[in-house]
Amino acid sequence: MKKIKRLIIPLFIVLSILVVSSCSKDEIVLSPTDAVADSSGSGSGSGTSGGDSNSGDSSGTGNQEQGNEGEITLYKVAGDNISKIKDYKVSGQDLEFQKDLAKHNEIWELVKKVVPLKHREKMGEFLIYNGTSTGSAGFVVEIKQDLSSWKMGIAINFAYEGSFNAGGELAYTIIHEFGHILTLNNSQLNASVSQGDCENYFPGEGCAEESSYINELHNKYWKDIWSEYEEAKKDQSAQQKFYDKYKERYVTQYASTNPGEDIAEVFATFVTKKEKPSGNTIAEKKILLMYNRSELVEFRDHIRKNLQLRGRGNATSFELPEPGKWKQANTFGNPLKTKCRHTH
Ligand SMILES: [Zn+2]
Repeated sequence: MKKIKRLIIPLFIVLSILVVSSCSKDEIVLSPTDAVADSSGSGSGSGTSGGDSNSGDSSGTGNQEQGNEGEITLYKVAGDNISKIKDYKVSGQDLEFQKDLAKHNEIWELVKKVVPLKHREKMGEFLIYNGTSTGSAGFVVEIKQDLSSWKMGIAINFAYEGSFNAGGELAYTIIHEFGHILTLNNSQLNASVSQGDCENYFPGEGCAEESSYINELHNKYWKDIWSEYEEAKKDQSAQQKFYDKYKERYVTQYASTNPGEDIAEVFATFVTKKEKPSGNTIAEKKILLMYNRSELVEFRDHIRKNLQLRGRGNATSFELPEPGKWKQANTFGNPLKTKCRHTH
């Protein structure tokens, strides 16, 4: 008996590592078709470098590392600036993307507009990749086990689908992805507490602090339906039934995937929706939880000001998708993965 236990424990550890590592990415998945045509024209996309922050040279150095899943160029983030850590070994269209530093900079400039300097401390790395193979437009993954530093990846092919940030999809992606960093970093979660010892919600990366955003969301609006959710996430038709039953709780269908996606979608809706909701539905009450946090209201104001999001009629640098209308809003992610997105 003891011997079996001794075998089972290491096996369990190996399995959990596999689960965690296959789950450590969050990806927004887009279909490569249907580029949105009516971007309001900030697409300065081509040619000369508008960037001031990226001092890369694109000449290859010979013994380059082969990237995974479309990795093109990895940057280190330091305040306002990014500096190249490495170019991955690429060819064909990816090599064109790799050489196009003006595009890397244009994407980074948008990330900077969304993510204020003090929040960028949590973002240690920035990756340009091609999302064709994974079908993903963006992802985040922790680069320090204590969750204090994260990498954000942005798919350059989707960023320029149609034109730069067409329909505001790229901006939405960045807001959603940063929403994960905001709610899963080391000020929110304690990565050294295991699930067994966690008295609050456990999103997978660590144990949520009592007063964390995600713990509050889980306590108020997931706990009462948790066993139904656990049942429902086992297959897609059950997931659909679950969503149909509890629609009024979610800002998008995607948000019903799991609490991690829910809070990222709630954050993105909180930021992009002009009016403060009245709180008639649970979905609206979730947004109001964010209005109750003054630092999040400040964050929202920052993004809206930087993106020049005002009322209709005023000139904007670009528009964001209507709340709930971004490309994958009406799909499910993989419920077994706390913050991963995969093609439906
Ligand atoms: Zn997500």
